[in-house]
Amino acid sequence: MSNKYDVIVIGAGPAGYVAAIRCAQLGLKTACIEKWHDDKKNAVYGGTCLNVGCIPSKALLDSSHKYAEAQHDFKTHGISASGLKMDVPAMIARKAKIVDQLTGGVKQLFTANKVEGIAGVGKLLANKTVQITKHDGSTEEMSAENIILCAGSAPINIPPAPVDNDTIVDSTGALEFSAVPKRLGVIGAGVIGLELGSVWARLGSEVTVLEAMDAFLPAVDNQLAKSALKIMTKQGLDIKLGAKVTGSKVAKGKAKSVTVNYTDKDGEQEIVFDKLIVAVGRRPVSENLLDEKSGVELDKRGFVVVDETCATAVAGVWACGDLVRGPMLAHKGMEEGVMVAERIAGKKTQVNYDLVPFVIYTHPEIAWVGKTEEQLKEEGREYSVGSFPFSINGRAMAANESDGMVKIIADAKTDRVLGCHIIGPSAADLMQQMVIAMEFSASAEDIGLTMFSHPTLSEAVHEAALAVNGHAIHGVNKRKR
Ligand code: FAD
Ligand code: NAD
Repeated sequence: MSNKYDVIVIGAGPAGYVAAIRCAQLGLKTACIEKWHDDKKNAVYGGTCLNVGCIPSKALLDSSHKYAEAQHDFKTHGISASGLKMDVPAMIARKAKIVDQLTGGVKQLFTANKVEGIAGVGKLLANKTVQITKHDGSTEEMSAENIILCAGSAPINIPPAPVDNDTIVDSTGALEFSAVPKRLGVIGAGVIGLELGSVWARLGSEVTVLEAMDAFLPAVDNQLAKSALKIMTKQGLDIKLGAKVTGSKVAKGKAKSVTVNYTDKDGEQEIVFDKLIVAVGRRPVSENLLDEKSGVELDKRGFVVVDETCATAVAGVWACGDLVRGPMLAHKGMEEGVMVAERIAGKKTQVNYDLVPFVIYTHPEIAWVGKTEEQLKEEGREYSVGSFPFSINGRAMAANESDGMVKIIADAKTDRVLGCHIIGPSAADLMQQMVIAMEFSASAEDIGLTMFSHPTLSEAVHEAALAVNGHAIHGVNKRKR
């Protein structure tokens, strides 16, 4: 058994590769074990995010958005385009190229930072020893003072719609269709269902989304969720709420299709699709990761149990990213990876879990940070709201992007910003400035006193902050001051 590393990381997704790089930057000798591999059995880094998640989905969202814009929006600007065609294999190849560039980039970063990448499957044994099963079947054991578990997550399967990677696919399969399905079903109106449903709807699929819950996007501020449902329905997504899938049957033969049965408030229903995407959430990849004697605990749902610093109950064993509690987001995992690396190096770094930003990359985007009105009501906290619609923001009008609004919520007494909720053009990037402001405990007045460039979409954020105290200039204030 070799003991030549200070830190061994299992998994090279956003949590693992970031943790490994930061450890190495801090002078710790670091190895990172990754099971994802190419045809030649070389490790491929970047995890779900770079290979089959954030990046490929955004590549398809951007390609399909350009196509939809050319089809529906160009004429507003006086541009006519005829003979417009979508080359799906070219779109998929572009996405694959971006994925290759980014996963190759992580490999280069490992080399530059002297992180040792190891291809194989890692398992934590007792006494901070890791067993690596290489792709040729051989095994090796290594131990280190610190182990960071970053094995990530995988799609959840449901018995009524078993994924066959052909007619019924999960999110990974939905990034690889070779042609636009005529009738596309999506189970789950969550982030993946809406993002990938939007991609294929823009390219011409008739998309039906079956969502078990009666509420649409319950984690999103109610006002925004209502507006999103309206906009997405207008875009052609048929979102059926309260639809519980009970079974599915794939038709054999050349023209494959799948018949899906579900129940809703009107009783039993049946619907036929050419392709079906199952997007009902993700689960932690913790099976076969831990030996019984490792001492690391899993909760009922399979998440590794950690405290707020990502420490497990075994001193020197840490876990971050999708493998542990909290939202399954790449940036949350990355921040945890940095925190753990810095704590191993003796710093007191923390993650501010109150300010995790969320984004749904539909068009328009939906982005938020902090508390919703609904949460504040439940907490019995008094608050003031300021909002501003993009329909009267000059830059949004110039770009023909005037759907949506910015909403800022502040404490009624202290004026400290408690939440920011945006549906609209570039909502993700607009919201990010509020994450920074909130990190510095800004008040709505602080934002109002800041100078914003004109004409920008950001001015909608400025006006919403001014509106919190009834000072908006370019909109009518609900609150008079
Ligand atoms: P992962 O990225 O899952 O990486 C875990 C790595 O560990 C993998 O490479 C895996 O092969 C490896 N591994 C697992 N077990 C072992 C083992 N025993 N030995 C060795 N290696 C192992 N999040 C966002 O923030 N923004 C987005 O826009 C976004 N879009 C998404 C779109 C889709 C379609 C999907 C599926 C997800 C998306 N996510 C997005 C979520 C994001 O991808 C995850 O939150 C993120 O990748 C989690 O990072 P992680 O490092 O914890 O795990
Ligand atoms: P999700 O939790 O966002 O949504 C799943 C949806 O499926 C929920 O609305 C749920 O009620 C519904 N559902 C569950 N079981 C069902 C059933 N049997 N029938 C019908 N509906 C059912 O999960 P997801 O969309 O699969 O995404 C997984 C994770 O990936 C999320 O946690 C998300 O954080 C992450 N992700 C993030 C982004 C982003 O940040 N933009 C994009 C994609 C994925």
